[in-house]
Parts: sequence; structure tokens; C-alpha cells
Amino acid sequence: MHIVVDLNRCQGYAQCAFLAPGVFTMHGEESLLYTPVAPEDQRARVRRAVAACPVQAILVGEEAGAGAR
Ligand code: SF4
Repeated sequence: MHIVVDLNRCQGYAQCAFLAPGVFTMHGEESLLYTPVAPEDQRARVRRAVAACPVQAILVGEEAGAGAR
């Protein structure tokens, strides 16, 4: 599944890194590193991370592919 994080919106809350550590990792205090194409077995974790992000910075799947918003 494709993932795009709007890093302008991301505030480094690290909820995603906590919920899906295989896909999102914090680099230092505020910068986020992530895997743009996550393995399918990470899907449920990624969904949880999307739901948990306080600023809705994470887009997945077709939304991400279309580059919408
Ligand atoms: S949960 Fe959202 S704001 Fe927090 S680090 Fe992840 S993408 Fe950024």
C-alpha cells in the first residue's frame, strides 16, 4: 500500500511511529521517516496510525497515489 505523509502538516507527535513502527520511525525529535510503499502485512497497523494521527497528515492507498489534498 502506498503512503504519503504531508510533512508540512505533520507535527511529530509520533503516534504513527508508535502504532506502526515497521513503517514510520522518528528521526530525532521532530522529523519523521516512513516507507512510501508498505508491505501488505502492515496494512492494519498503518490504518491505525492514520486514524491516530492528530493532524490527519497520513494518506494511504488511492488517496496517496492520486496526490490528492
Ligand atoms: S502521527 Fe501524524 S503528526 Fe505524528 S508523526 Fe505521525 S504523521 Fe506526524
